[in-house]
Amino acid sequence: MEKDKINSSGYDVVIVGSGCSGSFVAWKLNKAGLNCLLLEAGSYFHAESYPRKELDSNSKLYWGGGIELNTEANIGILRPKVLGGGSIVNQALLDRFDDLAFDSWTNESGIEYFNQKDLARYYDEVEEVIASQEIPAKFRNRNAAIFEQGFTNNGFQCAPLVRAQKDCKYEDGNDCVECLGGCRIDSKQSMPVTVLKDAVDNGLKIVADFEALNLSMEKGRGIVSGRFTNGESGEFSGKKIVLAASSIGNARLLLNSGFKHPMIGRKFFTHPQHMVLALYEEAVNSHKGAFQGFKSNDPNFRKSGFKLENVYAPPVAIAMLLPGFGRTHQEIMRYMSHLACVEVAVRDTNPGRITVNKAGRAIIIKSLNKEDRIRWNKGLHAIDNIFNSTGAKRIIPGSIPIGLHLMGGCSIGMDSNTAVVDQDFRMYENQDIYVTDSSLFPNAPGINPSFTIMALSIKASESIKKEF
Ligand SMILES: Cc1cc2nc3c(=O)[nH]c(=O)nc-3n(C[C@H](O)[C@H](O)[C@H](O)COP(=O)(O)OP(=O)(O)OC[C@H]3O[C@@H](n4cnc5c(N)ncnc54)[C@H](O)[C@@H]3O)c2cc1C
Repeated sequence: MEKDKINSSGYDVVIVGSGCSGSFVAWKLNKAGLNCLLLEAGSYFHAESYPRKELDSNSKLYWGGGIELNTEANIGILRPKVLGGGSIVNQALLDRFDDLAFDSWTNESGIEYFNQKDLARYYDEVEEVIASQEIPAKFRNRNAAIFEQGFTNNGFQCAPLVRAQKDCKYEDGNDCVECLGGCRIDSKQSMPVTVLKDAVDNGLKIVADFEALNLSMEKGRGIVSGRFTNGESGEFSGKKIVLAASSIGNARLLLNSGFKHPMIGRKFFTHPQHMVLALYEEAVNSHKGAFQGFKSNDPNFRKSGFKLENVYAPPVAIAMLLPGFGRTHQEIMRYMSHLACVEVAVRDTNPGRITVNKAGRAIIIKSLNKEDRIRWNKGLHAIDNIFNSTGAKRIIPGSIPIGLHLMGGCSIGMDSNTAVVDQDFRMYENQDIYVTDSSLFPNAPGINPSFTIMALSIKASESIKKEF
């Protein structure tokens, strides 16, 4: 959108961050007739303009040039920065939360509506606007077959994955691994091709390439000031402000703006995911077709606090994960097409913290405690069994775990001392500011989060709408 066509004030609601949450809030409130403005630090890309090279995707679609690190430099953090946020770069796997996740949220937050029954209608509404499919069996690749066989061999339970996609045209040879840099056939149900498209057609204003740097509330209006990518300053105001800049973005904005609630930035979780590769005699071609097909669905794994998925990544990411340097590294890369890959994602229990340094930069403090390491090791053990039982010649654990489900930092709860946001998604510190995204998670659910983020964003929109 052209910024000179956008008013700076007079909005009912200004939303910061256009990912899974911000886009759903914008869509719902725009549909309800509210005058909304959606601000996004990243750029607008579409099917024809997504970067063609993996390195360009990393630098143009993510904060920090592709990857950020925790202070101990032992967890890589992937934080999307693009119009549509995570929905552009994610794998779009959709899972409803189970009782275990919701019960632990109720325990932690004191909020009663965290249960499958009360949230069913919000999940249903997401499904009405986001097409989803179980990955068709005939298009699962050899990596998925190894995963399924390994589960059978070891008596583990797995289930097919459901993905937000419309028609991936596998029969034409499409490889979905490419769409981790943006789907070039608009099959993946990212925000710009679904709810944002509807909302823009209905008058929603969007400003991309604008980073919100400060938030203040003056005379009953919220003022968001910041900087455009070209260096110009900008300021936008609205009666209500919605923060949907994700865990790190929200905490950074609030702390740099002088908000004081002691829990801002606390209770930060990431589901650290550790990819483990295995070398097979024959070609596996893990990058081909629907590169993910299965997830673990094993009650023992769930109770033990981890899940497994068959997964893969483009070559630069795989190169980063493989150990060694020079010739040793090159030797394994030569056999990239013979590598299978399974990842363990830990339901992490050790809350991290987002803070800011003197320059206002986000500092990510996150480590794994003993319990997290036990969970991780159990997952690694299960992966070893899967690979060993399916004929792997060599098992190669990835060099670093990656956090790509960024959650918490503005946690929701009934107690204003321990939570930043109340059950109506309003900040205790200022009731004209709402938080609607993954930063409100009170702990790590151990389940893919985006479906629940979208569902809760619809629920939050109902609370916001009541104020008008
Ligand atoms: C590679 C990858 C694969 C994933 N796969 C899955 C999956 O299969 N299933 C699943 O459920 N989840 C998956 N996820 C996670 C999922 O994408 C996120 O949980 C989800 O996108 C979070 O939604 P959100 O709205 O909270 O934040 P985001 O989608 O991250 O959106 C936040 C937006 O706010 C913007 N922003 C931040 N700060 C500012 C600021 N100061 N001013 C303006 N804008 C700002 C950011 O640029 C970003 O675009 C994956 C993530 C990654 C990175």
